[in-house]
Amino acid sequence: MSVNKDIFVPDRDFNYDFQQTGKTQDEWAESTHVPESLVPTHCSFCGVQCGMNLRVENGKVVGVEPRNYAHNRGSLCPKGVVAYQQANHPDRLLYPMIRRGGRGGRLERATWDEALSYVVSRWKQIQAEHGRDAVAVYSGSSMTNEKCYLAGKFARLGLQTRHVDYNGRLCMSSAAGAYSKAFGIDRAPLPMTDIPLTKSMLVVGSNVAECFPVMMQWLWKARDRGASLIVVDPRETPLARTADLWLPVKPGTDIALLNAMLRVIIHDGLVDEEYVRARTSGWDDVVEMVEPFTPEYAESLCGVPAKRILAAARLYGRADPSLIMHARGIEHSSHGVDNCLACINLALARGQMGKPGGGAMMITGQGNGQGGREVGQKASQLPGYRHIDVPEERQHMASFWGIPEPELPGPGAAATEMVHLMAEGEIRSCLVLCSNLMVSLPDLNVVQRALENLDPLVVIDFFMSETAELADVVLPGTVWCEDEGTTTNLEGRVIKINAAQAPPGEARTDWAIMNDIADRMGRGHLFPARSARAIWDELREASRGGVSDYYGITWEKIEDQQGVFWPCPELDHPGTPRLFTEKFGHPDGRAKMFAIPYQPPAEEPGDAYPFRLTTGRVVYHYLSGNQTRRLGFLNSQAPEPWLEIHPRAAEQLGIQDGEVVRVRTKRAQMDVKALVVPTIRPDTVFIPYHWGHRLAANQLTNPAVDPTVKIPEYKACACAVERISVTPTTSDNGVVENFTPSTTPTMFPYAVGEVKAK
Ligand code: SF4
Repeated sequence: MSVNKDIFVPDRDFNYDFQQTGKTQDEWAESTHVPESLVPTHCSFCGVQCGMNLRVENGKVVGVEPRNYAHNRGSLCPKGVVAYQQANHPDRLLYPMIRRGGRGGRLERATWDEALSYVVSRWKQIQAEHGRDAVAVYSGSSMTNEKCYLAGKFARLGLQTRHVDYNGRLCMSSAAGAYSKAFGIDRAPLPMTDIPLTKSMLVVGSNVAECFPVMMQWLWKARDRGASLIVVDPRETPLARTADLWLPVKPGTDIALLNAMLRVIIHDGLVDEEYVRARTSGWDDVVEMVEPFTPEYAESLCGVPAKRILAAARLYGRADPSLIMHARGIEHSSHGVDNCLACINLALARGQMGKPGGGAMMITGQGNGQGGREVGQKASQLPGYRHIDVPEERQHMASFWGIPEPELPGPGAAATEMVHLMAEGEIRSCLVLCSNLMVSLPDLNVVQRALENLDPLVVIDFFMSETAELADVVLPGTVWCEDEGTTTNLEGRVIKINAAQAPPGEARTDWAIMNDIADRMGRGHLFPARSARAIWDELREASRGGVSDYYGITWEKIEDQQGVFWPCPELDHPGTPRLFTEKFGHPDGRAKMFAIPYQPPAEEPGDAYPFRLTTGRVVYHYLSGNQTRRLGFLNSQAPEPWLEIHPRAAEQLGIQDGEVVRVRTKRAQMDVKALVVPTIRPDTVFIPYHWGHRLAANQLTNPAVDPTVKIPEYKACACAVERISVTPTTSDNGVVENFTPSTTPTMFPYAVGEVKAK
C-alpha cells in the first residue's frame, strides 16, 4: 500500500469541522477524497507529548509514522507507537447509555436528547432542592487546553457550582504548589533540550526510562558529554541501573536525604553565596534547619548509607551546571510540597535556577498535566493561573465572562475532598470527564461507596472505564485524534493537536457536549465559542495578563515554531523557553526558600504491617490503563499487576517467584503474583497501579493527603505480605488462572449491562 507522504495540516489546508458536517464517519470519509495522507499531531499519552504523524486512509486512522519534532526528534515509545489503535477500537462507546431499572439495573442505549434531558432535569431538581453546589464536575488533564478551559467555565457559569476540580490533583499538584511558593510561577523552568548542557543530574523519585521513555535521549546526550547521574529511588529502576550513584531511599523519607545533602554542601563551602544573597530569601532559616541532618542521622531515617549521601552531595554539589529532576516518587506524598521545596533549596543553594542546563525541573506526568492546571479547571483557580479567592482576579474574569462578580462561585473542594462530600451527601451528582476514579483514587472501597451515593453519576468517556461501569448515564466522547486543539507539555511548550478522523457512531467532543448542556440549563448565552478554535481564542484572551499568559500563542505560530512556551503575552512575542534567568515570579523578583523539617510518611511499618508498599507506572501502561489495557501489544506485555519483593524478604516468607501472594493493608487486601527481584529494598514492596477491580493497587493505598494541595500518599503505606497456599497456572498471555482472588465484598456488585455499545 502506498502512502502519500505530503503532510497536510487540517485546520490550515483542509477546512473541515466534523461537528458541523452532520455526517457519519463513513459518509465523511467518502466525501473527503484524501484517501492516503499523514496528519501531524502528538501522542495522546504522557507529558512529553511526542510529535507523530497519523496515517489516514479513507478517512480513518490506520497507523503512525515518526515526526521530527523539536523535543522527540522522531522517537516514540511503545505506547506512542500503538496509540492510534484506540481510534477504531471495537470497545469504543458509540452512543449514550442510561441505567434503567434503578441501581441494580443495566446501562442501555439512549438517544442524546433523552440522556441530556434526563441529566439536566435531575440537575435542576437537585440544585433547586439542595443548592447549586450539590452538583460537581470532576475533570481531567488528558484533554486539550480548550476542553479543560471549558470544563472550568462550564462548572462555574453553566452549572453555577463551586465544586470543580481535576485529576491532576492526583498527579503532581505538590510540585505545582512548591514551584508557586518558591518561584511564583508553576512551570518547568527549561526545555528538555537543555538537559545535555548539564554536568550533573540528580533524579529524585522518577522512573524516567519507563514513564517518559523518549525524554531519555536528552539524559543520554548529557551522559555522552560527561554528566554524572545520581538516582534516588527505593527501586533500582532502569535509569538507576546506569547511574554513578543509586540512593535506595525508604519510601516517604526523602526530606532527610535532601536536607543531609544540603548540609554537606554548606559544610564543604559549595554554596553560591552571592547568588543566594542576591536572588533568594529565607536562607538563614534553611541553614539552621538542615544543621542536625548529618549523613549518619539521615541514614537512620532514610536508610541510605551515610557514605553514599556524602558522595552524592559532593558529586552534585561540585558540578556546574547541575540539574535536579523530580516526579511522582516524591510528589505522591502527604508532604509532597515540602519534598519538592527541599529539592528547590538544593538548586537555589548551588545558584542553579535560571542557568541553561541548571536548576530544578518537575517532570509532569499526564499528557496535558501542565495546561490542565493553569486554564481554570482547578478548584482554586481561574484561567491564566489566576486565583479564585483574590478579589481583583475574580473581578477580572467575571467581567471577561460577562457576569457580576458575586455570581462567580468561590473555591471548591479538591478532587480528593469531593469523594468525602459525595459520601456525606453534600455532593449529590457529578459529571466525570476523562477520569477513572475507580482506579486512580486511593482507598477504592471508600471511593466506590461515594460514587454509589450519586444520583446521577454522569461519565463522559470513549471506553467503558471502571468508573463508567458505576454510572447512571454514560456519554460517548472522542479520542484525541478526533478533535483539534492544544496541549501544554511538561516543558511548558504549547503544541497543536490535529484531528485525523471523524468520531465513530454518535460520539461527540467533550466541548460540544458541555455546550449542549449549558444550552439546556438556560446558560448557553454565556458560551459563545462553538468550535475548538473559537474556544482557543477565548482562552487566549482569558489568560491575557495572567501568570500563564497564552495570548500571543496562535495555532499558526505553534506550527511554525514547533511549539510556543508560555508566557507569550503578545502576538509578536516568541514565547519563553527559559524562566528565571533574571528574576523570579514573586513581586520582589526573589525566590523564596523554606526550612523543611523531616516528616515521615503518614503510615509507618509496624508488627502487623511490616513492609513499605510503594506503587507506580510501568512502560506498557498509562495511568488508569483504561486505554492501554485495550491495546494488544501493551496488554500482552503487562496483562496484570505483580508484587516486586526482594529475595531476602521472599525467602523469609517462603515465597517463590511467580507464586500468588496476599498483600494486606489497613484498608483492603489483594492477591497478586510475586516477582522476586534484587532491585528493590528488602523492606519495601512495589505494585504497579494500572488495573481495576480486584487487580487495583489503590484498594490498598493510604488516603492521607498533603495538607495544602491534597495530593494522596500513593508512594508509601504499611502493608503485610503473606504466602497463600495456591500454586498458580497461567494462560498463554501470562494471566493467572486458577486462584480466587480475595476481593472486598462491596466492590462492583452491579450489573454493567451493555458495556459495549454496538
Ligand atoms: Fe507518548 Fe510519552 Fe511515549 Fe512520547 S514518551 S510516545 S508522549 S507515551
